[in-house]
Amino acid sequence: MALTKEHIREALSAIAHPAGGDLVARGCVLNIAVCDEHASVRICMTQGNPSEPQPSRDQLAKMGALVDSMVRAAAKEQGIDALGLIVDFVDHQGEVIMKLKGDAKGVARQQNKDDPKTPTPQNNAATGVPGVKHIIAVGAGKGGVGKTTVAVNLAIGLGRKGHAVGLLDGDIYGPSLPTMLGLHSVEQVVLEGALQPFMAHGVKSITMGKLVDAEKPLIWRGPMAHGAFHQLIERTQWGELDYLIIDLPPGTGDVPLTLAQSVQLTGAVVVCTPQRVAQDDAVRASAMFESLGVEVLGVVENMSYFIGDDGKEYDIFGRGGAQQMAQRLNHPFLGAIPINMALRENCDGGKPTHNFDSKTAGGEMLPKALETLVDQLEAQVMLASMGKGSSKPTLTVS
Ligand code: ADP
Repeated sequence: MALTKEHIREALSAIAHPAGGDLVARGCVLNIAVCDEHASVRICMTQGNPSEPQPSRDQLAKMGALVDSMVRAAAKEQGIDALGLIVDFVDHQGEVIMKLKGDAKGVARQQNKDDPKTPTPQNNAATGVPGVKHIIAVGAGKGGVGKTTVAVNLAIGLGRKGHAVGLLDGDIYGPSLPTMLGLHSVEQVVLEGALQPFMAHGVKSITMGKLVDAEKPLIWRGPMAHGAFHQLIERTQWGELDYLIIDLPPGTGDVPLTLAQSVQLTGAVVVCTPQRVAQDDAVRASAMFESLGVEVLGVVENMSYFIGDDGKEYDIFGRGGAQQMAQRLNHPFLGAIPINMALRENCDGGKPTHNFDSKTAGGEMLPKALETLVDQLEAQVMLASMGKGSSKPTLTVS
């Protein structure tokens, strides 16, 4: 027995719409996705009537609880007792106006500090950075999936939206920010013992790559790596920042773990390519963050698909794999970045802002994908900030 889209559609057709008819008949159910014991449903309550005002948040929450219980009942009939369910209510532009996430016990379940599922708060030794509102780590289960590329583009995208942004190259073994930001001809300035961040492309940045010989391999033992990382964070004169993005070393070994643990993070972004093996690594990365009590703000699927000269889309690595993984783990999916030659050239050529201009990004697709990522991240940061506290509801609103 397996839960299918049809089972869910049937369950939703039993829910009456306040204006008459049922949710399915009125065309309100825009999308249903099912994968093993995880499902998501996308609903627009005013579908077909753009002039109608959206229901209040209270009404949406009630409708969400109803959807949850009906879908869960359908899942039970198929032998699934613990369904992971995401219900997104969207407006006519497809913007999510409310997101409900439910586990086995339903969307309205509240987590409390005695609940074993509640992540332990981040290590007390973790410190914030004075003047910095949100610190976000970008991690990946393994190298080469585009973690630094995503960190750089998120930082630049946030900067383009008017935020004060810093970017810290925590990938101390293989710092690639000097290349990606085109910092080769500038020197690191130290004023009264404080490292002065580079100001390039609208973002402040700091990297070990400008403090050591770029040609020599960087061999750090655990404590040295930790020390080097702290020097970068604490000795840098960041000033006031809305966001500090940290590009973590890849993997889930001691070094990324210690670094992620040592600074008070708002949350983490996990970068992954769509293949199954990459997903397994990303699942481990996300488990690492959760074990540290760091909220996973979302998953990014990089190298999602390729657009050939013939204009066709090719799903080289099996597009959508990371999205399904995010759904399975109940993490937000921030978006997908296609394999794009302009992106590689712009990043490796130190001109990352070119990714945001259709004339230098090989068309509209890349800038749009990056802007979506940035918007989604902003929304998730806002949610994470709202949810901080000892009892955090699983009911999330966006
Ligand atoms: P990581 O930090 O995970 O090791 P990088 O961000 O350094 O990976 O990316 C590795 C290489 O892949 C870089 O040359 C980068 O420009 C390229 N790359 C990353 N993402 C894409 C993409 N979506 N399309 C094309 N090239 C990409």
